[in-house]
Amino acid sequence: MKLVVVGAAGRMGQALIRLVHGIEGVTLHAAVARPGSPFVGKDAGEIAGLGPNGIIIGDDPLAAFLHADGVLDFTTPATTNEFAALAAQARIVHIIGTTGCSVEDEATIAAAARHARIVKSGNMGLGVNLLSVLVEQAARALDPADWDIEVLEMHHKRKVDAPSGTALLLGDAAARGRDIDLASNSVRVRDGHTGPRKQGTIGFATLRGGSIVGEHSVIFAGEGETVTMSHSATDRTIFGRGAVKAALWARDKKPGLYSMLDVLGLSSK
Ligand code: NAD
Repeated sequence: MKLVVVGAAGRMGQALIRLVHGIEGVTLHAAVARPGSPFVGKDAGEIAGLGPNGIIIGDDPLAAFLHADGVLDFTTPATTNEFAALAAQARIVHIIGTTGCSVEDEATIAAAARHARIVKSGNMGLGVNLLSVLVEQAARALDPADWDIEVLEMHHKRKVDAPSGTALLLGDAAARGRDIDLASNSVRVRDGHTGPRKQGTIGFATLRGGSIVGEHSVIFAGEGETVTMSHSATDRTIFGRGAVKAALWARDKKPGLYSMLDVLGLSSK
């Protein structure tokens, strides 16, 4: 499967270039960086620390998608929006790891999925997706009158969106378990005299610092006891491996918007 890595100079882009090189069944077809990036015109393998691989980083997504089978996209919401339309036009698989998308961005991506095979997830790793299934079960089992749910996350200091896509994915799993809508039942920031906690809400707390790849805990707090479910990522290749797996999985699927739960066979749908 011929794959394009967009955001080729980014943290995830470079991890993906190294990974694609070593996984059977996939090849790096093209690499795309932001127009004006100093990496345009450089050898993708060399930038990723593999040594030259003859793939020169470009800035034209349309040319890159032309004879490709799929695109691995860990960039920004605006870029992912633009690429969703281009990937649908080129009829190639679009794997979206980008987080921080707005409701409008999600609608654009869903529209593109009428013609394209898109897999989108705030976390492409097996561990967090498995954790989300367990969180959903726990939230279903624990009465909201007695148990409060809080999601705590910490990431490296360069992360630009909060709460993380993974924190929202886990919050969404808890909301599903309780049969409520996350957006209208979440508390994403607390500051000042907030008053007591509103029963049934799902709270978020965000920490940033250092080089942390991703720490997440879902805390179920009851009277006299807490249950904590946690995940630690120590290496971003887990997300890259998931993205490649998703691309291979989506290759023969019908157009639609899929999640990593579908790819991993963990979906209850
Ligand atoms: P990063 O800032 O290191 O990389 C993003 C790259 O995208 C940058 O190099 C930037 O120049 C590039 N870019 C921006 N606009 C572009 C354009 N028009 N064309 C081509 N490239 C463009 O960030 P990162 O740490 O690699 O993370 C990227 C995204 O992936 C973030 O949203 C992050 O939260 C998300 N992420 C998701 C998962 C997951 O499993 N879903 C895991 C890790 C990171």
